[in-house]
Amino acid sequence: MQGRVDKSNPIGRVKCVVNTCQYYENGDRCVASAIEIQGLNARNTDNTDCATFSPRH
Ligand code: SF4
Repeated sequence: MQGRVDKSNPIGRVKCVVNTCQYYENGDRCVASAIEIQGLNARNTDNTDCATFSPRH
């Protein structure tokens, strides 16, 4: 899903603090239309990641 998500229909209600992501907006909002989270068999928070993250240019 990297770099393939548009911003015209934000998913909403997702708080994210990753301010280096192109989908991040002020107020800790994610404006991607969909996100994908990975972390099969995660045991704690650190075992999960947002696969939609794409660096800001
Ligand atoms: S795509 Fe993932 S990393 Fe980027 S702002 Fe949204 S939730 Fe955060």
